[in-house]
Amino acid sequence: MTGPLTTAEIREKYLHFFESKGHLRLPSHSTIAPDPTTLFTVAGMQPFKPQFMGAPAKFPGHGENKRVTTAQKCLRVGDIENVGRTLRHCSLLEMLGNFSFGDYFKREALTWAWEFLTSPEWMGLDPEKLHATIYQEDEEAFQIWTQEIGLPESRLLRFGADENFWPADAPKEGPNGPCGPCSEIFYDRGPAYGDDTWADYAQTRESARYLEIWNCVFPQYDRQDPAEDGTPVLADLPFKNIDTGMGLERIATVVQDVYDFYSNDVFRPLVERVAELSGKPYEGPQSLSHRVVAEHIRSVSMVIADGVALSNTGRGYVIRKILRRASRHAYLLGLREPTLYKLVPLVVEKMGGAYPELVGEQGRVEAAIRAEEERFLKTLEGGIQRLNGLLSGLSRGASLPGEEAFLLYDTYGFPLDLTKEIAEEYGVTVDEARYAESLENAQELARAGSKYGKSELFGGTQEALGGLPATEFVGYDELEAGGEVLALVGAGERLSHLPAGSEGAVVLSRTPFYAEGGGEVGDTGTLEWPGGRAAVRDTRKTPAGVFLHDVVVEEGELRPGLEVRGVVSGERRATERHHTATHLLHAALRAVLGSGVRQAGSLVAPERLRFDFSHGAALSADEIAAVERLVSRWVSANFAVSWQEMPIEAAKAAGATALFGEKYGDTVRVVSVEGGVPFGGQTVTSKELCGGAHVRRTGDIGAFVVVSDENVAAGVRRIEALAGEAATAWVRERLHSAGRVAGLLNTGLDGLEARVQGLQAQLKAAGQETAQVRRQLAEAQMGGGGGAAQQVRELGGFKVAALRLSGIEGNELRGAADKLLDTSGADLAVIASDKGLVVKATKDAVSRGAHAGQLVGKLAAAAGGKGGGRPDMAQAGIQDPAAALEALGTAF
Ligand code: ATP
Ligand code: MG
Repeated sequence: MTGPLTTAEIREKYLHFFESKGHLRLPSHSTIAPDPTTLFTVAGMQPFKPQFMGAPAKFPGHGENKRVTTAQKCLRVGDIENVGRTLRHCSLLEMLGNFSFGDYFKREALTWAWEFLTSPEWMGLDPEKLHATIYQEDEEAFQIWTQEIGLPESRLLRFGADENFWPADAPKEGPNGPCGPCSEIFYDRGPAYGDDTWADYAQTRESARYLEIWNCVFPQYDRQDPAEDGTPVLADLPFKNIDTGMGLERIATVVQDVYDFYSNDVFRPLVERVAELSGKPYEGPQSLSHRVVAEHIRSVSMVIADGVALSNTGRGYVIRKILRRASRHAYLLGLREPTLYKLVPLVVEKMGGAYPELVGEQGRVEAAIRAEEERFLKTLEGGIQRLNGLLSGLSRGASLPGEEAFLLYDTYGFPLDLTKEIAEEYGVTVDEARYAESLENAQELARAGSKYGKSELFGGTQEALGGLPATEFVGYDELEAGGEVLALVGAGERLSHLPAGSEGAVVLSRTPFYAEGGGEVGDTGTLEWPGGRAAVRDTRKTPAGVFLHDVVVEEGELRPGLEVRGVVSGERRATERHHTATHLLHAALRAVLGSGVRQAGSLVAPERLRFDFSHGAALSADEIAAVERLVSRWVSANFAVSWQEMPIEAAKAAGATALFGEKYGDTVRVVSVEGGVPFGGQTVTSKELCGGAHVRRTGDIGAFVVVSDENVAAGVRRIEALAGEAATAWVRERLHSAGRVAGLLNTGLDGLEARVQGLQAQLKAAGQETAQVRRQLAEAQMGGGGGAAQQVRELGGFKVAALRLSGIEGNELRGAADKLLDTSGADLAVIASDKGLVVKATKDAVSRGAHAGQLVGKLAAAAGGKGGGRPDMAQAGIQDPAAALEALGTAF
């Protein structure tokens, strides 16, 4: 029995089908858009825009190829609030596409789509269920559908440029670029989904019953700026193209005949895992939270794996919003601890085969999601406090203003349901109408700011900052400092004030907050002023040196002109430890591995440090130990760490390490450790060009430990290491865990190694013994050979010896077959046991046409199993040995 095709099988079949039609299969482009018209890749065609415009269809590693097929991961977040509610929208979708760059056109595109969908060899869908739409003026498509494919006219609909042109309404509204009419293929999911008819669809254009699965676009025009009188300009492209896109999630739902994609083979395990983690069973569409979590975790994992870091602008911001929506739903499911990151392994398991980047980045993805969940849960707690404050000021029966409920949602990520639930405990209702209005207003603003064509969500921020002076940074020495609020910014606009509960960016005249740069993360902390307080969640700076403090106002109100006190969080000290440790690690690596080591990237955070460097091989345990020892020596020597600004030439003359390929100004900052440590007859020192924050003395670093060394790209290795409290906590945890293992083995840590070696030896001996016993068992059952020979039969011109054994498997089963061939003098030996089936054939029999593999296939089929192999030897797993032997009579 084979079940319905899995998602992976459908993807493979699609690509294979189009390969058989002369297409070159190319890998998916990243979810980060290949061109600046969108933040994310939104369609399979996007990476091929140049080819559609006439660039040569040449791809690295391949010659010219005018037919291409891909499975492209796409992100569509325009309508994210509806994901989970509709039956057909994912935020991450895989688009299967076939493309022609001036090669084949409409006829092939449509007839191949039809063949792929209906042929039993491919998807085998019922042709009667398929419907199509075309552009009203596209007679060519009409002819192909009705005359050549034979689709009855009653299953065809014609629409205008709002529906059947891509991009929609491109003639009138743009964007400029390749465009054309399209033809969409729909699958009728039947009356269980709705009693509307196909004719109704012409009016409703929205249906749960008729599911759009495939869009075939015929880009034959180059849309250009309209003429002066406003008439659309559609120039003929020099040649005609084909661009199709079929949603893999949707076709899998149809082929697997499940209710919606949440029940297909990729999503079902995800919703089930959510059920398991929350203890709340998945009950179909009403389990909105399960669905949102399962759907969003795929998108977030993929985009982070593609290299996007969570942040407050652009892509990082979009991903943060998606993750927070998922977190909110996890919270609604009663989960109060970071949980979403636990779904990542399942995402990797389901999608890592097609998108191997997920596999390599799994650890980083999990860590990023977990950290964000922790942050978000804290924000939620802040919201709960705020809400409790508001509610205790209201009397029973009162109503909570809708704006407040919206603010809680927008700032603290509080879902309305949760607000209502808590309000109810105070006997307070929520003004939902006002809430909906505020939400609508905010969405309109967001839409206005993210129209197709804008490259950054907050693209206006930099312009809004024009004219502001570079911020005075005093944070190398002080973690607290006063400054004046020079400007407030939100959504790309200058703001006159930021009231309690709102988010925005603050520019100060003077600040102790370090802005993200040089690998070091931006500082967090608080701004305080008489009667007010704001949490600083991140600090960034513009190329012009204006620092932006990303804040949530908790109390009072921020206004330009206000004097505030900046207080950097104590976490900064942990960041400083990791930063100085990074310099020492760099110097130590060069001493131990050679001066070929060059820094290729680094991340310095309060929790850890990450250091990428050029080096061709994995580090040996000895090399890592040497590096750790060197750093420890610096730490124990407790040298002073100093920094100094100087002309770049002076810095180079003093031997400071500059980063390869990095641009420096005329004046640079040099960070030096005032003392060297001996290694291999030389003295190792550290002096680097660096703008980051550092400890005062090396002793401040405390413990240092390398926790991983891995390959990130050809010739580039990545070390993660911990310093200070993070390092001791890590070591302590490992020690405890090793202690627990030793306890399980009834020994202490000191005896652990010997104990494990002893167990390994025992295991090996036991294995050998079992094998020996099985061999004896086989021999005993074969009765020393003489008895076996009696079972030789003549079948299909071969002498076939057959034997049934029990309790024998693997090697012993094959050994028994050899023995049976020997002792019986037969051409073929067949042995069936309750653990498997083996067939062996002599060379002579094979030369006369015997085939053990084929025979095993037939016998296994009769015995409820599956198997195959070579002409001379083959095996299978079976359930019923007697049936396998019985089938011998008819197998030749
Ligand atoms: P719909 O109208 O159903 O929202 P669409 O017209 O926006 O889809 P296209 O841009 O034509 O979709 O994309 C081509 C194909 O990609 C669709 O036929 C569908 O199978 C799939 N697809 C598009 N958007 C999504 C989505 N959000 N989730 C899953 N599949 C999608
Ligand atoms: Mg479509």
